[in-house]
Amino acid sequence: MTVYLPHTIEEATALLEAHPHALVLGGGTDVMVEINFNHRKPSDVVALRNVDELRTWTINNETSSIYIGAGVPYSEMESGELQKVAPALAAAARTVGSPQIRAAGTLGGNLGTCSPAGDSLPVLSALNAEVHLASSHGVRSVPFAEYMVGPKRTSRTATEMITGVTIPKANGWQGYSKVGVRNAMVISVASACLAIQDDMVRLALGSVGPTIIRCVEAEKWLHENFATLTDLQPADCAEFGRRAASEARPIDDHRSTAEYRRHAISVLAQRLLQRSIQS
Ligand SMILES: Cc1cc2nc3c(=O)[nH]c(=O)nc-3n(C[C@H](O)[C@H](O)[C@H](O)COP(=O)(O)OP(=O)(O)OC[C@H]3O[C@@H](n4cnc5c(N)ncnc54)[C@H](O)[C@@H]3O)c2cc1C
Repeated sequence: MTVYLPHTIEEATALLEAHPHALVLGGGTDVMVEINFNHRKPSDVVALRNVDELRTWTINNETSSIYIGAGVPYSEMESGELQKVAPALAAAARTVGSPQIRAAGTLGGNLGTCSPAGDSLPVLSALNAEVHLASSHGVRSVPFAEYMVGPKRTSRTATEMITGVTIPKANGWQGYSKVGVRNAMVISVASACLAIQDDMVRLALGSVGPTIIRCVEAEKWLHENFATLTDLQPADCAEFGRRAASEARPIDDHRSTAEYRRHAISVLAQRLLQRSIQS
């Protein structure tokens, strides 16, 4: 196995162009498990740990947006300045694995694996994130909804790498919740991100479909029927939960049943909406 250690995005993309089957290595928390189980046997690896520019994040007050590099680990998102401007991402980051996994695992790696259970992904969906990709032919940005095209399937090409994401700076309440088979170190069986951005409620679901699901019908129902969130009664929040659950497309698998997942979504969506009103 040949491991390449580029220092810049330009060097990394040139390596991917020369070795289109190379495995990109971020923090390695998904990749090393796959290699250890012999699910992957890469002959070439492009390891990104020396590419400092991938580990930067910036807040742009003029555009009211946040750029987060693909190499930023969860440990940096879960508290501090990023938590203030991106609270749902911080909440999601705090639910990932253990402190060790959060120190090594990155946003780029979650997007690279692109599992419907990836904890950052419902947040990126609810916030209409732009995913930035680079190859030796140039750069492009795609909305998250066009980036994730199936379970662990993306619109990224083999010679492209993820350089980062842009999300809006929070200007309303945001939250993230997940349900798993235990309270910590757990992959979600259902998850939800609710974000109020520009006075619009947005809801995205994880682990209950082949991709992250945006609850466009439940969002529309709220928008069309309630002038302000303070008008909402507990029964309305329960109805929002039921509507969100009806947009989920869960399956039975080794982690849970479709029926339980749908129920979990109705509870998560209801609670997140209630918490947003009480905040
Ligand atoms: C014990 C344990 C617990 C975990 N718990 C959780 C959890 O609670 N929630 C959760 O969501 N995940 C969890 N994970 C999975 C994993 O930690 C996350 O998916 C993490 O975000 C992966 O990031 P990484 O940098 O380690 O990626 P890597 O393992 O380095 O890479 C993952 C994939 O992304 C690709 N990739 C990485 N960076 C780039 C890039 N810049 N451009 C293009 N492709 C790239 C790689 O080629 C690979 O296909 C857990 C893993 C373990 C081992």
